[in-house]
Amino acid sequence: MNDQLEICYLCGEPLAEPISDDHVPPKQMFAKELRKTNDLLKMLTIRTHESCNNSFGKDEHYFFQSLLPFARGSYSGNAALREAVDKFHSGSRQRFLMKMILGEFERHPSGLVLPNGRVAKRFQGDRIERVAWKIVRGLYFHHFGVVLPDEWTVGVTIIAPNERPPSHFDCFMNVVGNVQYGEYPGVFAYRFHKFIEANNLHYWAMLLWDRVIITVLFHDPSCTCRECLQPSTLP
Ligand SMILES: [Zn+2]
Ligand SMILES: [Zn+2]
Repeated sequence: MNDQLEICYLCGEPLAEPISDDHVPPKQMFAKELRKTNDLLKMLTIRTHESCNNSFGKDEHYFFQSLLPFARGSYSGNAALREAVDKFHSGSRQRFLMKMILGEFERHPSGLVLPNGRVAKRFQGDRIERVAWKIVRGLYFHHFGVVLPDEWTVGVTIIAPNERPPSHFDCFMNVVGNVQYGEYPGVFAYRFHKFIEANNLHYWAMLLWDRVIITVLFHDPSCTCRECLQPSTLP
């Protein structure tokens, strides 16, 4: 629907070769097993500069490997986990990354607390945020044809399965007319709402593998509130 605009949503510049089809969300969310047995033609793709798209590659790997341990239990999550384990044993190049991520699991909780309360996991928050924001920017462009700024103050929350969601999420889910989007909701679904009464606060929630919820909150790009105008001067 935005083809006539011919703008790369990642950098906001006009499209020029080399161009690539960016999957929103990244294709690796869909285990190869699912891609083989299902007709996944409705996966959302957006044309971008190849270089813009590629600049997210490493962070996308980190994002998925890091969230995968929470995906256990759903059809799409189990398939993705099986694939990751196979890759690990076949000694793929992702092995190093996966070892690093496994090392992030700790005995003594700090930061994010898992459902059983016994193990916590540190995230490289900036990388998770960068990819979460990229996905939201892609979806926003898909729905509204508007490029959101690459650099923007964004609040990201990850909600593990069985973890009690924060109260802002309950509030969001109770909004009248809150609709679920996504062609393959068992793999990836999302919802969004703009709270006009709260300084045009944009609230996006994504459900990965039917297990992990990620919320992304941000003010409208046109916002003139104090924090948006001068983010660096505030404590
Ligand atoms: Zn670009
Ligand atoms: Zn603002």
